[in-house]
Amino acid sequence: MYVGSGPIGIAWDTWRAERGGPEGIARRQHARLAGLVEFARSASPYYRRLYRDVPDDITDPRQLPRVGKRELMENFDDWVTDPHITLARLRSELLSDLSRLGRSYRGKYLVVTTSGTTGEPAVLVHDRFSWVVVNLVVRVRERRTLVRAVELRAFLHHGVRAAALVAGGGHFAGVVWTESVRRRSSVIARQVRVFSVLRPLAELVQELNDFQPTVLYGYPSAMLQLAAEQRSGRLRIRPVLAISSGENLSATGRAAIEAAFGCRVTERYLSSEVPALTSQCRRGAFHVNSDWYILEPVDADYQPVPDGVTSHTVLVTNLANRVQPIIRYDLGDRVTLATGPCPCGSPFPAVKIEGRAGGLVSFGAPDGRAVTILPLALGTVIEETAGVRRFQAIRTGPGTLRLRLEVSPGADRAQVQRAVEERLGSFFAAQGAGAVGIEHADEPPRTDRSGKFRQVWSA
Ligand SMILES: [Zn+2]
Repeated sequence: MYVGSGPIGIAWDTWRAERGGPEGIARRQHARLAGLVEFARSASPYYRRLYRDVPDDITDPRQLPRVGKRELMENFDDWVTDPHITLARLRSELLSDLSRLGRSYRGKYLVVTTSGTTGEPAVLVHDRFSWVVVNLVVRVRERRTLVRAVELRAFLHHGVRAAALVAGGGHFAGVVWTESVRRRSSVIARQVRVFSVLRPLAELVQELNDFQPTVLYGYPSAMLQLAAEQRSGRLRIRPVLAISSGENLSATGRAAIEAAFGCRVTERYLSSEVPALTSQCRRGAFHVNSDWYILEPVDADYQPVPDGVTSHTVLVTNLANRVQPIIRYDLGDRVTLATGPCPCGSPFPAVKIEGRAGGLVSFGAPDGRAVTILPLALGTVIEETAGVRRFQAIRTGPGTLRLRLEVSPGADRAQVQRAVEERLGSFFAAQGAGAVGIEHADEPPRTDRSGKFRQVWSA
């Protein structure tokens, strides 16, 4: 199968893959995996060593060993396939300089760092082909879902002004991507702007009032904060569409954003390693773009889990990027593949994202076992207590949870604290956990170094 490497060839093939059904997609995946493995073996010293005992002909990703962020970062200079790239040079020539955000490195690479909220930060290099695939896959697969006709008419009327609510303090994917788009033309640079969520809220509100964005995209935690500002009357914007990414969005959070701004919220599930891993269909399901990315849900022993069963973590492969091969990379997310075809008719498998494995919290049961709890479930119990405006819950031991609470204006703090304690008590009992002591912190909830606002984690 021939695919031209230019944008038209990729767009054509990406469009045709949808029509070829599951067999056509599998054929593309196998051919691209074989090509990527052969290339990684010849050009990456790290993979050459790792694949020493792997047969020449690869037909199934399960023939290959998995890789993890830590060992890849420790072997960074051997991992990349362009010998001109070293981690030390990247750090001194690009990453230490915020004025170079979104600029290509050596004229052809886009480089991003992860925030490290779930462990050590990674440095990820994408070549031009990888980036072309990302842009085209999004355009082809989300052509009917990203923007609806009624929203399109609103954009024609009010113009497109996009506010990126991302962290500006480093080369994080959101800001690098936004700045790289802005560098394309002065027209785009005026239409798209970064509003770093690390800045004081009052300044952010004032600048958004001046800019009057019609699109909000980025961290949903920032959108939730802004939704409260909009309700208070301090923020006065009328977005047509909000695109949430980078963090999980709860159903209550989504409803709060939609109610405050009177616009639809769409979600994107992506990561710096596999930027166009999924596309959302008109039924709201996330479909894996499995002609360009491989997603393998696995259990704690890295064995495949059946469809319909929630995985412990997920291994991903990026078939489009050759400068830094990502092959069976442990991403750390818990996912569930759908058991049947999606009513939308897409031939791509639908997947449900449950959250980060690294974020799981466990508490002790009366018989000494550990009870594992999904952060989203625990968070929802607290979030849906009357009077809670914002919160953070930190597991500090098998029987202790530290709470940072911000109560709604006018609410009685002591009363809200008691209500949260009561609800958590019944929740933990229902989960089979023993008594969990709630410790109320004096400090308010706050964002971490990268501007992400985590709600529930283990200290
Ligand atoms: Zn669907």
